[in-house]
Amino acid sequence: MSIQSAQRIALISFHGDPAVEIGREEAGGQNVYVRNVGEALARLGWQVDMYTRKVSPTQAEIVQHTPGCRTIRFSAGPLEFIPRDNLFEYLPEFIDRFLKFKQENGIDYQVVHTNYWMSGWMGMYLKKLLGYKQVHTYHSLGAVKYATIENIPAIASKRLESECEVLEQAERIVATSPQEKAHMRQLVSTKGNIDIIPCGTDIHSFGSIDRNAARVALGIEPDAKLVLYVGRFDHRKGIETLVRAMRESKFYGDQKLQIIIGGGSVPGQSDGIERDRIEGIVDELGLREHTKFPGRLSQEILPSYYAAADVCVVPSHYEPFGLVAIEAMASGTPVVASDVGGLQFTVVPGETGLLAQPQDVAEFAIAIDKIISNPEWRDKLGEAGKRRVHNKFSWDGVANQLSELYLQLIAQPVLQEEQKEVEAALSGK
Ligand code: UDP
Repeated sequence: MSIQSAQRIALISFHGDPAVEIGREEAGGQNVYVRNVGEALARLGWQVDMYTRKVSPTQAEIVQHTPGCRTIRFSAGPLEFIPRDNLFEYLPEFIDRFLKFKQENGIDYQVVHTNYWMSGWMGMYLKKLLGYKQVHTYHSLGAVKYATIENIPAIASKRLESECEVLEQAERIVATSPQEKAHMRQLVSTKGNIDIIPCGTDIHSFGSIDRNAARVALGIEPDAKLVLYVGRFDHRKGIETLVRAMRESKFYGDQKLQIIIGGGSVPGQSDGIERDRIEGIVDELGLREHTKFPGRLSQEILPSYYAAADVCVVPSHYEPFGLVAIEAMASGTPVVASDVGGLQFTVVPGETGLLAQPQDVAEFAIAIDKIISNPEWRDKLGEAGKRRVHNKFSWDGVANQLSELYLQLIAQPVLQEEQKEVEAALSGK
């Protein structure tokens, strides 16, 4: 099937703005996913509109990334950052803006691809109102997440209910790993259509620099034992496990040991609070001399950090996919990750890195030590990781699979029953 000239697709990512800096506050994998999928779809010939919520008066309403791909921001609620658990009440306003924008600009879509449960909720509404076909990516499942945290937010029941409805009602769900699909089936619903299409990474940028050159560029000693974390400061990311594991490492106290904990933080906001907590543990364990917190790392500098590292650690309590793991592997660096979710899919233990039980400090320490004490094995794991990412996780490969899926859905006739529902919704019956 081929894309008709300038066929349009809408990606809705209500709380994950594809045009913002990544790595700060709540901006992480979802923002990277939507932006890269959007740009790669545009390279295939789609006209891509990515819809998100505006969080500051200074943000542009439209950001044109490439000729075929733009971000469109609507204000819905106060023009400020609001944690995602408090955003639900602004969805109706966002939908109104969407409908108005669509009408004023004379554009329409046949398929809408929604991201995270709140956008999924809007997608279900638009499907009923306008007959759109809906593709949905969860990015995180409430049923899994709430099992790993103590303070369940007030919005939890609404989220769980919507996540079940969207699985049963969307034309297609995109699970990013077989593990995520299994969770949906076990914890959400046995109904609904699920395809597995993974997340991707930029295989040209990650892997563009080798370890020695990266170390020179970053001023890191050639013989340092460098352990790297990259990601948001969020309790679920398990940074504490990594820090405690380094206290148990046999390299503790060795001048050559270096730990870099990269990721953004804004004083006083939620990720700043987690960073203060982690820094407190670093001090308490006597790791300050070994540890650096460079703050948010731009996508331009990240390839050097990954390449410079001996090992990249992803100690999450739960991870639906985990882009950081494939970015490190694409850079030729082995990964030690928690044996959970998408990390069980991306990291092949003994081949591209090692897996350890989440929050198991001793197991993480052993796995990290095993890799940093054996440079030959480290290089072998690194090479295998790079091959795995090139074969399975490039953005262009991911976009090809999504494009095929959208085209299939567009080609499917609308069922008579659905058509009647749409007509009834439009005539206000
Ligand atoms: N990231 C970044 N700079 C940082 C920290 C993280 O660009 O300082 C990016 C990282 O490269 C990755 C994304 O943020 O692409 C994190 O995605 P992941 O799936 O690992 O975690 P999530 O944030 O979705 O929980």
